[in-house]
Amino acid sequence: MVSDVIDLRSDTVTKPTDEMREAMQEAKVGDDVLGEDPTVKELEELAANKMDKEAGLFVTSGTQGNITSLLTHTEPGEEIIFGRDCHIYRYEVGGYASLAGLSSRTLDDSKGFMNPSEIEEAVREENIHHPETSLLCIENTHNVAGGIPVDSHYTKEVSDIAHDNDMKVHLDGARIFNASEALDEDIAELVGPVDSVQFCLSKGLSAPVGSMLVGSEEFIKRARKNRKRLGGGMRQAGVIAAPGIISLEKMVRRLKEDHKNARILTDGLKEMGIDIEPNKYKTNIVMLDTSQFEKTAEELRVILEEKSILTLALGKNLMRFVTHREISREDIERTLNVFEEEIL
Ligand SMILES: *Cc1c(COP(=O)(O)O)cnc(C)c1O
Repeated sequence: MVSDVIDLRSDTVTKPTDEMREAMQEAKVGDDVLGEDPTVKELEELAANKMDKEAGLFVTSGTQGNITSLLTHTEPGEEIIFGRDCHIYRYEVGGYASLAGLSSRTLDDSKGFMNPSEIEEAVREENIHHPETSLLCIENTHNVAGGIPVDSHYTKEVSDIAHDNDMKVHLDGARIFNASEALDEDIAELVGPVDSVQFCLSKGLSAPVGSMLVGSEEFIKRARKNRKRLGGGMRQAGVIAAPGIISLEKMVRRLKEDHKNARILTDGLKEMGIDIEPNKYKTNIVMLDTSQFEKTAEELRVILEEKSILTLALGKNLMRFVTHREISREDIERTLNVFEEEIL
């Protein structure tokens, strides 16, 4: 595919494949609030099976999956532990506070994960002055830190700490399949230690809409009710669930290509003498510190945009590139040429 615009803003820009469009056309549907949509049921079972959890729930977005999980695991007034740079804290409109009524204990996760000993120290002891610490949220891959994957060893270690303290663990696994492909770890093993997982169908997996929440039968039963409370009960949702089935069956293996393209980008930048550490970026997200060009991320973003290369300015000096199904190796080479000609 020859694309004029190279869109490296996010893997959310991926459009459904022709096969997905056909599946939407042909999907068997029913009223899913009444539990009668066979395609939604199939997707929910498939997602749960892949992760070796008991049940799944189709939700409209990653944000809805995360807030539904928070509402289901906690009571208002309790406290959650999560990273200062995690998506739930930074980019979900404060729903953990306004909708779930939770207080927050944020820890440093700038390397892509929280230090287990800091998690342990952040758990509140029983005291009349303290809220109950009831939930730990981890993120894999970690978006803002640069698509950092964490392995099942880490996940087990921090989950054990949480469980030993009567807490639950929610994994914001928006890009958990990128982690599993990058680490060559079985997905079920990777999510084994946690109580619930949210993952996105609509990012690198290319579906047009939706995320999945998976966990125990009992958890998903209550989550289904919380999703309804949030207005997320959907009727003939099989038309949007059908592409999600293709995401899970056919789009996972190709994520490795995105990781390879991200590596070609970081290697190419490094070869030009740009300060970037290719080994840090193991999945499809690359971060670049723009201060080395004496430019803000926004200034650099505009220069690239004039050359039809779209990126995101995430912070004052932080630029993000994301590779995905609609980014080819040629697109990466063109991007590298623009750096050489326009920026250095
Ligand atoms: C994108 C993302 C989400 C939210 O997904 P939406 O479908 O955009 O609501 C949650 N967590 C992480 C880490 C993400 O990257």
